[in-house]
Amino acid sequence: MTHHRYERHSMARTGWLRAAVLGANDGIVSTASLVIGVAAAGATHDAIMVAGVAGLVAGAMSMAAGEYVSVSSQSDAEHADLAIERRELATDAEAEHRELAAIYVGRGLDRGLADEVATQLMAHDALGAHARDELGIHELQRARPVQAALASAAAFAVGAALPLASAGIAPDRAVISVVALLSLLFLATLGGLAARAGGASLLRGAWRVTFWGALAMALTAAVGSLFGVMT
Ligand SMILES: [Zn+2]
Repeated sequence: MTHHRYERHSMARTGWLRAAVLGANDGIVSTASLVIGVAAAGATHDAIMVAGVAGLVAGAMSMAAGEYVSVSSQSDAEHADLAIERRELATDAEAEHRELAAIYVGRGLDRGLADEVATQLMAHDALGAHARDELGIHELQRARPVQAALASAAAFAVGAALPLASAGIAPDRAVISVVALLSLLFLATLGGLAARAGGASLLRGAWRVTFWGALAMALTAAVGSLFGVMT
């Protein structure tokens, strides 16, 4: 298999894009559904906007908190693994050398070359070589809890701002239809883009997220109108 230096693999760019699109989708679906539910209950335009803004802030904070906690535990696990590795390198470098060479033999190098590669890489940066080739911890992909939390909250907030802006510009009697239509359009666009970026079918990507978005909005509209009837 030949690799040309200009060849771009989708893996390299989809990681953060996928997280951003998922965050934005969450923002669109949850805020559009909230706004439609409150509108269906017969609330005033101001009350709808207050509920929408509260939903945006609450959603962004919960995304940030969830992402921070999950990435922090990943970061804790990485640190614990690296501490074990550092200790093993300090107490039994020979065994660690054998282990690393065996990994390279498993990847197709012959014994002599594998030993030589392990020797040179450990001389250069023993912990880095073991972290990368034994533990699969790559510097570029290290867990960064604060960065992940901020990115996740920002993606949600951007997504949520779309149905909120739609509700803001919609005439009072058309809030539900305007928010529903525009939000489904945003979802289809994002879903298609994310699918295309991942090398998958644009239409299938768009259809999937639009279906679930429509279902969520229909359910909250039903609940909202139920409350509207009861009050
Ligand atoms: Zn090791």
